Amino acid sequence: MGRLRRSRVHNARRDVHRAARTRVRTRDLDQIQMIDLDPKNRAALEAQPIDFEKPGLAQHYCVECAKYYETDAALQSHWRSKVHKRRCKQLREPAYTIEESERAAGLGKEGKRATATETTPAVEMIVA
Ligand SMILES: [Zn+2]
Repeated sequence: MGRLRRSRVHNARRDVHRAARTRVRTRDLDQIQMIDLDPKNRAALEAQPIDFEKPGLAQHYCVECAKYYETDAALQSHWRSKVHKRRCKQLREPAYTIEESERAAGLGKEGKRATATETTPAVEMIVA
């Protein structure tokens, strides 16, 4: 067996080891889109009870990025940051669903293509 490729696999990722670690793993985009961005769930996430395990006692949470911040100022500056804006842009696109994978495999109903507005009703909130 030959050597598995270890070079030129980073592809614009600065820290591949960190990205691979499960400790830093956050919620997936489709989970955020379908569950967290729902106005009811969003309100609950933004007003969490004080939790001593979480950074900043879980009082400063970014719903789009599924991240906790230490202070309100840190959260405010995060909202202005490139990371957050990029994330919002990613969330505006429809999530990859089971229906879509079935359609790709030829199992779903043909001809009924879901649009962005059908699958993600809560995404307009970010834009507004
Ligand atoms: Zn964010």
